[in-house]
Amino acid sequence: MADVLVLDGVRKSYGIGTPVETEVLHGIDLAVRAGEFVALMGPSGSGKSTLLNIIGLLDRPTSGRLRIEGTDTTDLGDADRTRLRGHTIGFVFQYHYLISAFTALENVMMPMVVDRGRADAEMARRAGELLAWVGLDRWRNNRVNHLSGGQQQRVAVARALAAGPALVLADEPTGNLDTASADGVFALMRRINRERGTTFLLVTHNLALAERCDRIVEVVDGRIGSERAGRDDGAVPV
Ligand code: ADP
Ligand code: MG
Repeated sequence: MADVLVLDGVRKSYGIGTPVETEVLHGIDLAVRAGEFVALMGPSGSGKSTLLNIIGLLDRPTSGRLRIEGTDTTDLGDADRTRLRGHTIGFVFQYHYLISAFTALENVMMPMVVDRGRADAEMARRAGELLAWVGLDRWRNNRVNHLSGGQQQRVAVARALAAGPALVLADEPTGNLDTASADGVFALMRRINRERGTTFLLVTHNLALAERCDRIVEVVDGRIGSERAGRDDGAVPV
């Protein structure tokens, strides 16, 4: 299968031109195939979030190349990067960044509304479908601050899928959840991966979850350390 993502010698420095200039990524080479579910592990401060932000086109590498679905992003301007991000990439973070006063349905609709500049019935229908997909049909009209942490993270997963992304980047999405909720959110992402073919790159400190991914990639001090296969997750109960 084709690669969704190819990084070639990606380096990142912060504080360029200041006395505290520091290189935090020292030449990352990484390829992720379409449909793969990859876990990114590594100590705190090793550069995982920096790497995810670069892959998600939220930040630019200092040098090196990044290709997303065959498009070399190196020479793209901001408008093209924003467009590519919006159509190709979904994000789930440790904190959900939902709008607490809005309902689950409104939160999932939000990226579509922002993209098109207005809400319509088709967006509501699509958001409802996504919420049913993540098991929250009954809660679609509840304000998200009335939902549990695990339910809120499921809403965030549904929102990440709103634009039909090829690639979902999840930065410690289960870090704030209890074991059972973390397991449920992981199983949900794994099911989306299996049933829709969506590619996932998941940062996690949870070894038990990482081992249920297709591949575990370790980041150590801004470099790719060891890589190994996960074991098959089998049929996923949700
Ligand atoms: P991880 O997600 O693996 O914990 P990060 O990517 O957040 O690691 O951080 C990697 C290193 O880069 C850390 O030393 C961190 O302090 C530094 N860093 C992260 N973001 C910035 C920034 N905006 N400016 C300066 N240094 C940063
Ligand atoms: Mg981080």
